[in-house]
Amino acid sequence: MKQVFRQVVVWAVFAVISSFGAFAQQHIHIVGHRGFWKAESAAGTQNSIASLRAAEAESLWGSEFDVQLTKDGIPIVNHDPTIPSGAQKLRIDEYTWKELSKLNLANGEKRPTLDSYIAEGAKLPDIRLVVELKRQREPDGGHAREEKLLSETVSILKKYGVFTPERVVFISFSLYICEQIAERYPAFTNQYLEGDLTPAEVKAKGINGIDYKYKVFKKHPEWVAEARELGLSVNTWTVDKEEDILQMINLGVEYITSDEPLLVRKLLNKRGVFQVEASDLTLVGKLRTDTPHIYNRVDTLAYPGLNKSEISRARMSAGIMVAFRTNSKRITVQTDYEYREEALKSSPLLYGGYDLYIRKDGKWLWAGAGVSKNNAIDQPAEIIKAMDGSMHECLLYLPMYSILNSVKIGIDGGTEIYPSENPFRHRVGIFGSSFTHAACASRPGLSYPAIFSRETGINLLSLGVSGQCKLQPTFARIIADADIDALILDAFSNPKPEEVEERIFPFIETIQAKHPDIPIIFQATIYREWRNFNTRFIKYEADRYDRCVELVKEAQKKYKNIYLVYPNATDEWHDTSADGTHPNDRGYILWAHSIEKPVLKILAKYGIK
Ligand code: MG
Repeated sequence: MKQVFRQVVVWAVFAVISSFGAFAQQHIHIVGHRGFWKAESAAGTQNSIASLRAAEAESLWGSEFDVQLTKDGIPIVNHDPTIPSGAQKLRIDEYTWKELSKLNLANGEKRPTLDSYIAEGAKLPDIRLVVELKRQREPDGGHAREEKLLSETVSILKKYGVFTPERVVFISFSLYICEQIAERYPAFTNQYLEGDLTPAEVKAKGINGIDYKYKVFKKHPEWVAEARELGLSVNTWTVDKEEDILQMINLGVEYITSDEPLLVRKLLNKRGVFQVEASDLTLVGKLRTDTPHIYNRVDTLAYPGLNKSEISRARMSAGIMVAFRTNSKRITVQTDYEYREEALKSSPLLYGGYDLYIRKDGKWLWAGAGVSKNNAIDQPAEIIKAMDGSMHECLLYLPMYSILNSVKIGIDGGTEIYPSENPFRHRVGIFGSSFTHAACASRPGLSYPAIFSRETGINLLSLGVSGQCKLQPTFARIIADADIDALILDAFSNPKPEEVEERIFPFIETIQAKHPDIPIIFQATIYREWRNFNTRFIKYEADRYDRCVELVKEAQKKYKNIYLVYPNATDEWHDTSADGTHPNDRGYILWAHSIEKPVLKILAKYGIK
């Protein structure tokens, strides 16, 4: 579903721009051909591990390499079917690995097997491995050697944990290999290299991409558009000259494979402003990943029991983040809001704005924030400017109290933007009140679940629903239907004690019916600072607190895997409140820190580390 959406959007952008005769503005992946072997560190040695490392060091999108099969069935990384040995050329398929292994690469590196190459590639998580499976001579007819090449390659990729469509793209001149990948591993990008088939013919064979020599596209420029319309990915090789690179950019290819990746980057950088829909990058933090509206946290139509206010809260983008890498100096966001709730005693940055963090030395450091004008979809908000132009790993928090139709992230003059890996581990649901929804925090990144995730690396999937968190049976079903490893609740801040009494056990039972073995961690509610001097309701608050704690203790006797933790959002000065009820930023930071240790201890018992 998402794939189709992406292609439609990218194509629409291309179509609009190209109709004005300007360069195509779609995103282009730069792939280093046989690694970035022209880097000084690679000493001109193609397909070396140094060239792979150099490609990663330059933050190229991907690094291509060629895989051949020895006589004894060991896949090795080499372009030609032969390896020079003195005056001789040894055919790889006529020698064993033992015989060939003595012949080092030109830069002195030990000749890489695919195993040693992938062992290194697995340590470089930010680069994609573009694996070319070389066509094999088949002495017995049939496809025995190509079969062996494919199966050995897949098992090595699996061995190092990189056999995922996010890390690996397959390319091959062998139609047989492409067809086998299409049949067995359809989720992978799989590009046919030969250039002898039309896009429609490739599509008819079930293969989902083409990677043709740029001269093929010069002869058949219409094939690029045809392929894109058919949903095929389009790569081109080996494009090294300025005029050829510009022509391929103009035609609208999605990948450029080059021996001159820095020239490709320079030419891309000359293009105009580029915008990408956030959903084409990596969306992180969604409790439910199955929503038809990509920026909604819940498909509320699928749960008819919700009232109007619950629907509105559940559809807000609170807690959703966009993970990407970019080398742009400036980042903007343009928003089409369906709704934004401005009535809260909160800053516009919180209810309608975006909050950017950038990873530095392993930690997420705040980078910038901005808010678009409401009903002004053509006026992007500037989130940050004047960065240094190097590649940064970014995490952008979406607005907390808004419902979004479209979020367009803008970058400078055709610089690059890529989806990055989800930086967080596991899937821990968190359902809560306006506290979890971060009311009165100054910006989205300062919700306590957001702070917890950044500091611990554990993926908290937030469903903060403002004043609507009352252990309702419908929310129990919404959460039970989610893919989660654990559940945290801030469930005692909104409901009356009698509502908690009536609902807490059925709520637990609904969750446990779908997830019998996950920890369910209740948080007691926090001290509200208005109680410092205002004497009204003090007894009510204290009684409610005690009753809820009692009920969790009863639940612990009745059910397995139930826990209670006590958050603390204040300190000795009690200057941690925004409005008497909700913490200010310091209060939320204290809250996150106060639960980190006890929650991590519980999660660890379940292997969630
Ligand atoms: Mg190649």
